[in-house]
Amino acid sequence: MSLDWNAIQEKWRERWDKEKVFETEPQADKKKYFVTVAYPYPNSPQHIGHGRTYTLADVHARYMRMRGYNVLFPMGFHYTGTPILAMSKRVLAKDQELIDAFIRLYKVPEKEIESFTEPVNIARYFHNEIKKGMREMGFAIDWRREFTTMDDAYTKFIAWQFRKLKEKNLVVQGSHPVGWCPNDGNPVSQHDTVGDVEPEFTEYTLIKFSLEQYKVPTATLRPETIFGVTNLWINPEAEYAHVKVDGENWIISNRCVEKLRFLNRNVEVQNTFMGRELVGKKVTIPLVNRSVTIFPANFVEPKDGSGIVMSVPAHAPYDYQALEDLKRNKTLLQNFGIDDGQLEAVKPVVIIESEGYDGVPALAVINKLKIKTQDDPKLEDATADLYSHEFYKGRMLNNTIRYAGMNVAKARDEVKKDMLENKLADTMLELIKSVTCRCGTECVVKLLSDQWFINYSDTNWKSHAHECINSMELVPDEIRPEFDYTVDWLKERACARKSGLGTRLPWDKEWIIESLSDSVIYMAYYIIAKYINDYTLSNTELNDYFFDYILLGKGSADEVAKSCNTSVELLNRIRDDFEYFYPVDARHSGRDLVPNHLTFFIFNHTAIFTKSEWPRQIVVNGSVLMEGKKMSKSMGNIVPLRSAIREHSADAIRISVLVAAELLQDADFTLDAVKGIRERLERIYNMCKRFTKEELGQLELEDRWIISRLQHVIESSTMAMDKLRVREALHNIIYSMDQDVQWYLKRANAKERTDESISGVMGYVLDARIRMQAPFAPFVSEEMWEVLGNDKSIMHRDWPQIDQSKVDYAADESEILIMNLVADIQNIIKVTKIKPNKIFIYTAAEWKWNVYRKILDAIIEGKTNFGEIMKLLVSDQKTSNVKQSPDMVKRIIEDVLSDPLDSRHRKAELGTIKESKIFDDAKSLFVKEFAAEIAVYNEDDVGKIDPKNKAKMARPYKPAVYIE
Ligand SMILES: [Zn+2]
Repeated sequence: MSLDWNAIQEKWRERWDKEKVFETEPQADKKKYFVTVAYPYPNSPQHIGHGRTYTLADVHARYMRMRGYNVLFPMGFHYTGTPILAMSKRVLAKDQELIDAFIRLYKVPEKEIESFTEPVNIARYFHNEIKKGMREMGFAIDWRREFTTMDDAYTKFIAWQFRKLKEKNLVVQGSHPVGWCPNDGNPVSQHDTVGDVEPEFTEYTLIKFSLEQYKVPTATLRPETIFGVTNLWINPEAEYAHVKVDGENWIISNRCVEKLRFLNRNVEVQNTFMGRELVGKKVTIPLVNRSVTIFPANFVEPKDGSGIVMSVPAHAPYDYQALEDLKRNKTLLQNFGIDDGQLEAVKPVVIIESEGYDGVPALAVINKLKIKTQDDPKLEDATADLYSHEFYKGRMLNNTIRYAGMNVAKARDEVKKDMLENKLADTMLELIKSVTCRCGTECVVKLLSDQWFINYSDTNWKSHAHECINSMELVPDEIRPEFDYTVDWLKERACARKSGLGTRLPWDKEWIIESLSDSVIYMAYYIIAKYINDYTLSNTELNDYFFDYILLGKGSADEVAKSCNTSVELLNRIRDDFEYFYPVDARHSGRDLVPNHLTFFIFNHTAIFTKSEWPRQIVVNGSVLMEGKKMSKSMGNIVPLRSAIREHSADAIRISVLVAAELLQDADFTLDAVKGIRERLERIYNMCKRFTKEELGQLELEDRWIISRLQHVIESSTMAMDKLRVREALHNIIYSMDQDVQWYLKRANAKERTDESISGVMGYVLDARIRMQAPFAPFVSEEMWEVLGNDKSIMHRDWPQIDQSKVDYAADESEILIMNLVADIQNIIKVTKIKPNKIFIYTAAEWKWNVYRKILDAIIEGKTNFGEIMKLLVSDQKTSNVKQSPDMVKRIIEDVLSDPLDSRHRKAELGTIKESKIFDDAKSLFVKEFAAEIAVYNEDDVGKIDPKNKAKMARPYKPAVYIE
């Protein structure tokens, strides 16, 4: 019977609400655990991809609760910023593409869309949708603490945060570069860009080549390679201009003209022309004074750098490949009047030597990666590989004048410095990768004057951020270098805009604080929000004294209470709450927020709070693929979470987004997987109905085994969960436990045991298993829990603990012995194609056990040498007859060595086991499995039947088999 999942979900949602199980208050006798996850931005409904981060946080919260912690897991909604505003403008302009997306993709009723001309209505609508989805997913959220970043009380809190930063000189006004949208006239950050890319920029060197009275600048990150320049590249089909830049004559692309103006350079355009006019012209390399030709190249983007590129084929794989491609297409050059000889004369000039590369390094990398044309995406890897290899290992050759012998890192700085001093070069800030604003405009770098910045350049602040990172747990730890890198890399960051939703800068009201700046310490606000929501606290009376007292413990309660017209008692209650719940114990987020939000979160906590309130852990996860493909609106493969829940159940979705990949990897969501998980959960549910719990009673071998196995699963799953290796835990709890139960039922079934006789054992196993499954699949686990005869929510029960008295090595090894023998016999039948009538099983003679145990002990002591072991055996009277069977010794050594370490120790502890007794116990299974008569003999048995003389092959744990 398949389950009515929607009914189960509804039933338990109502029950949880009624019993207020997720509402968390401080409890003096209980340790707290504060889990938070980056609050959602409500400009669309959540889809399966969002499901992963929030589910992981929820599983974490539920797990810690079962481990006995008083867990607080709250949620808010982030309205701040420009995207919602931009959306609303598009609705007002009747943008059909957006309206279609609302209707078809997001299923928004048309009536609602009409109201979307008011931006806050968009936020409210999707806020509501997301909240419903979170409840339907079963997230254990304390909703009493919900807020939006437009709430009056929240804006007061943000204003306080900014006054704190300003007091400490961490918010400054000045001129600094920012990522910028020329169309919107606003700075851009990750939230504002297509594909959520954080605009990162850096300083390029502009090498000034000479062409008559003009300078032809080319942008590069490797100025030291000018000694290897063989030609320049220009796009013949793009527009260029003769310009005067701060008084000097330059030739650059039209696109570069605009970019230089955003960088506050004085640019006068004299005339424009097509790139083709410069093809074939000669320029002189500065510093080197060699002359090279300008070649045509369609791959040169006029928007990148100056639109003209220097070509260093020996050290830049792109240039090398482009020259090769040009040689194959000579007509292109002939059209420009350049003869073959001129092209053939271009030979790569190697100027850097580095360990591991002979000849032309660019060619070596191209060959290594099997690159054939300049369109090959692997060229990017080739470039990056060579770039870092030469940076760390390269040394300048003799053809680089006074830089010869220097390492590349040093030469890069020296060449740049010398050229800048001699006006042979200039600099230009440029985006490292191109970034598009959500409005469709290509972003640029702008030097912004009189803008408000958060000064992430402050070295003292950086060192505090590093200190916080060093003191905290990062899950998984391999993400640590990304945080340290970001802290080092971050510079002044524009923190306010002239438009958008959000809090006004308290001392300069024409500015609105942007979304990655008002979302860094809000976890503290959850404590206050509860009192605003239940009207105990009025937002009109909140002031800086209030926040100072609650969040920093500053001031006297009497005076603060007076100043904000509230009671001392209430103030102290809120302060106590804060002291109880803070700091944040775990912060969850997607990996894409490492270079901004998560690092800002660290920075701002160290600036505002005392060290004891700094965050303790960050958990980062990868994204979700849909049937192997990246999810995107254009692909049309975005599955909204709420409809997925209706179709597949919340529990199956929760498990499938967590079981598919390790934390940092992308998880592939497939319909097959989600269906398989749902069926598996239904099977477990049916088991709960079948086995009503009773006393354990008299235990058979398989009973002892499954109970012992359960202890191992508890142990390994607990260890995995403590490190949030949820994939591994799920594999244990769901998949390997399932296999074990199947084996157990097969054994019991072969012995014709009744359900009643195994019900106690199955009930015991299910009890622990369902408790371990509950954080992952909360709804169906509650249902199973109830079926097992429990009347209280599973939320009140503990995570199971290992019972050492039930760990049973003998049972563990016995069942493995039986499983292995079944597999061996199956194999023999498969290979020989015999239809068995009778199966003879021979267990090893006693002397072999003496040999086995001696070898096992020797190997555990670290002796694995055959000769040494042989000597040991021969010198002992009990095992000295091995002289006649050195082969047997070799085999046993191999047996032991192929055993895992823990199994070796278990076996050493067990000593000699009675294999024949074990096989007798499993006889019914063999008979049923192979439909044959079974005879078990010991090699020592005098009356054994051994027609093919197989018994002598038997070894401990490796019985011999004969089939007829
Ligand atoms: Zn824009």
